[in-house]
Amino acid sequence: MKEDISVLIALQELDTELSGFDRKIEEKKQELVEREQAIAEKEALAGQCREKAAELEQSRRDIKAGSEDAAERIKDRQSKMMQVQTSREHQALLKEIEEAKKTIKDSEEQQLQVMEQVEAEEAKAKELENLCTGEKKLLAEETGKVDKAIEKLNGRRLAVQDKRDKLAKKVSSSWVKRYDKLLKKRDGLAVVQVIDAVCQGCFMTIPPQKYNDICLGEQIFTCPTCQRTLYYLPPSDEDDT
Ligand SMILES: [Zn+2]
Repeated sequence: MKEDISVLIALQELDTELSGFDRKIEEKKQELVEREQAIAEKEALAGQCREKAAELEQSRRDIKAGSEDAAERIKDRQSKMMQVQTSREHQALLKEIEEAKKTIKDSEEQQLQVMEQVEAEEAKAKELENLCTGEKKLLAEETGKVDKAIEKLNGRRLAVQDKRDKLAKKVSSSWVKRYDKLLKKRDGLAVVQVIDAVCQGCFMTIPPQKYNDICLGEQIFTCPTCQRTLYYLPPSDEDDT
């Protein structure tokens, strides 16, 4: 029995190491995903700026068209002036001409303003696009580095996995099954130490009689609260001082 527990302790150590590899690999992958997302967001923003610029450009063309209509209207009303017979008609035409002139003047200012907005949106888009180009290049380099790091981690992981598989054969399969089940259920921690009558998995206190039995180390015990396999290590001389 004592041998079994020591194998389970060793298994737990290896599994903790394995999950450490998994976490590191996951973190590295996640970092790349986040950077990709950040670039995609910037690209979307650049796209929005381009769209906005196109819409503004269209409204500028509409304003320009209105101004050209007004110019046509002035020509038309001026030629009509030659034929007017009453001062009332004359006044009406003059008023229309004045209004058309005002339209032309206003539209020039508006076009200028809109043009500035178009340029601002395009500059913003360009800036974001440049940023994305740079970041994509860096990300490609980083991806290469991460791939290599993951490959290395996977190599080390395989070696540990191999060690673990060999070790698992040293303990009865029913124990390994129970251990594996617990490992999944208890977030990767199935075998824990008891220190001062406290389970180091769930941090609940073990009843005194049970604690005494665990200290004897002749049987494998489980925590009454979290069901993890418990073991006791007598304090070394160093710990006493
Ligand atoms: Zn516990």
